[in-house]
Amino acid sequence: MLRNMEASLTARDRVGIQDFVLLDAYMSESAFLDNLRKRFHENLIYTYIGTLLVSVNPYKELNIYNKKQMDTYMGVNFFELPPHIYALADNVFRTMLSEFNNHFILISGESGAGKTEASKKILQFYAVSCPSTKLLNNVRDRLLLSNPVLEAFGNAKTLKNDNSSRFGKYMDIQFDHQGGAVGGHILSYLLEKSRVVHQNHGERNFHIFYQLVEGGEEELLRWLGLERNCQNYSYLVQGDCAKVSSINDKSDWRTVRGALSVIHFSESDIEDLFGIIASVLHLGNIKFEADVRGYASLNNDQEMHWLLGIPTQVLKQGLTHRKIEAKTEEVLSPFSVDHAVYARDALAKAIYGRTFNWLVNKINESLVNTDFSRKTVIGLLDIYGFEVFYVNSFEQFCINYCNEKLQQLFIQLTLKSEQEEYEMEGIEWEPVPFFNNKIICDLVEEKHRGMISLLDEECLRPGEATDLTFLEKLEETIGGHPHFVTHKLADIKTRKTLDRGDFRLLHYAGEVTYCVVGFLDKNNDLLYRNGKEVISHTCLRLPTLLKVMRQSKNAIIKHCFPSSEPDSKKRPETVVTQFKSSLVGLTEILMSKEPWYVRCIKPNDAKQPGRFDDVLVRHQVKYLGLMEHLRVRRAGFAYRRKYEIFLQRYKALCPDTWPHWKGTAAEGVRCLIQHLGYKPDEYKMGRTKIFIRHPRTLFATEDTFQVC
Ligand code: ADP
Ligand code: MG
Repeated sequence: MLRNMEASLTARDRVGIQDFVLLDAYMSESAFLDNLRKRFHENLIYTYIGTLLVSVNPYKELNIYNKKQMDTYMGVNFFELPPHIYALADNVFRTMLSEFNNHFILISGESGAGKTEASKKILQFYAVSCPSTKLLNNVRDRLLLSNPVLEAFGNAKTLKNDNSSRFGKYMDIQFDHQGGAVGGHILSYLLEKSRVVHQNHGERNFHIFYQLVEGGEEELLRWLGLERNCQNYSYLVQGDCAKVSSINDKSDWRTVRGALSVIHFSESDIEDLFGIIASVLHLGNIKFEADVRGYASLNNDQEMHWLLGIPTQVLKQGLTHRKIEAKTEEVLSPFSVDHAVYARDALAKAIYGRTFNWLVNKINESLVNTDFSRKTVIGLLDIYGFEVFYVNSFEQFCINYCNEKLQQLFIQLTLKSEQEEYEMEGIEWEPVPFFNNKIICDLVEEKHRGMISLLDEECLRPGEATDLTFLEKLEETIGGHPHFVTHKLADIKTRKTLDRGDFRLLHYAGEVTYCVVGFLDKNNDLLYRNGKEVISHTCLRLPTLLKVMRQSKNAIIKHCFPSSEPDSKKRPETVVTQFKSSLVGLTEILMSKEPWYVRCIKPNDAKQPGRFDDVLVRHQVKYLGLMEHLRVRRAGFAYRRKYEIFLQRYKALCPDTWPHWKGTAAEGVRCLIQHLGYKPDEYKMGRTKIFIRHPRTLFATEDTFQVC
């Protein structure tokens, strides 16, 4: 017995504890970190805080994601096996089936922490472990294969992650009452379109461009007028790293090409789709020269032969002129070279962005569930993580705002569900204070004086507003806010200086300095800007180019640029306002479901296996609110189970309850728990459940089992 205990202790020393709730020195951040580190070095990347799963990116392949592992975890209770993403997936699935309700799994963490990998593992688990029929197999395959397609078009190499998601993704997997996957639906959020025309040093454009150039069949490339050399395309080489050692564009091309066929893309869809990708590349190679009057003219026609089935002359004119409606006639007004370059890039972004939306819709069509019987869903949220680069722009502002919103949701839901459960069960409980990031959400989104309102207001002042007047407005209105800093106030507030064109936000996850250049422009997302040195917005869109696109013979382009589109006189919603509304919609979707959490942690910035950077991890533990979450779990009752389930599982530990208990389940549990030596303040009997504060003794045996 003693030897067993010793063995168990040594094992514990080595591999740490699998649920933080059971950690003795639970209040200390250092103990928390020690436990994570110990486990990480033993390749145990998963640890629980109750039912929340903490995952540390191993940056290497672990042999823990195979069919055998899936079988092991299927149908087994949470605490009976070492923590695993499959355990979480399985528990969500079984809870959904038994309670017949909807769930979602929120996967969060900063860029490169492992969110997308986690969401893929969950999807694979469902694909393999759910009951299936031949019909369902088709749905299952399409669900799985939607991933490589969306990643090809929506992911790119950044400095943080070689496969960074540049769009947000929420995916519902729909199940019938027997647990078979019968359909799915994907919502996508704000694709980072600016990447199509510009990449920072060390970063790439979206994967699909490189896949096509590297992997496309000879005949296809010839037809598209492409050469097999990424260096020849100006949109592919701005980051100076077309080749990435961890990415095999050729084999990824084959995967994507195969997947497209499975998800119901016809040959003509596929032709049109790659016609568009090639056209964007050709568009990027178009150069302009100033003619004798200083107006833009195309310096060669070579790249124009393959462009979306639009007559060359029409496109040429659209890129170098705009039509102005005078009283009785239309007058062509020529562009300067700068304007023409702007129009070209705006067009490339618009084409790519709209095609991406088309792609998501097309995938959704193939995932539609035609069986209208009642079904339940598990939602998977894998959205871009918190991001800090050397230079941060409008895109990072939106991404980090989104992360603030999700953190807010986490706070509301964890507090809410905990409190509600105690209330429902009639148990007294005092809430633990959290750091509430609502103050930062408000700073960004408050009506009238929030940053989004101020930005939109500036976007409405044609001819007068610039990025710098926006910055001045921020200073005037929210300069006194504790989470906002500009160069005027930088020294006083954070003792770090700031450039004139920058502002800094003190996010829940850390400080980020944003460069204000481009905010107005990107927020307007115009097909045209009518400005000289300063940005002005007298002509809000480029109707000439929109009309040009409508002449395309390409079916996808026709669909993406419909003739019914509102004309230039009606002002479209700004990008950030659209994004804000879509996040409100997302919050509503999530609030109506049962939450589960995976919190991903990035162990180092070098993307290397075996390196656990204490400072970096400590920071993430802090801002992800893990200590606070743990405190809530500990201050309350870490463990809770329905009386029936608890009795069934542990009745063998007490001679009075084994093998049969005659009374009610609650009485049986009371008898059992007293027999196990729990003191009255260590547990509470709720209406339907037993609550145990620190279930250490009870699980000692299981711990030993787990670490072996
Ligand atoms: P995020 O979506 O959070 O930005 P990813 O999920 O794309 O991050 O992970 C970044 C990279 O880290 C992956 O491409 C992969 O190389 C590695 N990685 C993440 N999770 C795991 C895992 N569980 N096992 C092995 N490698 C992983
Ligand atoms: Mg990702």
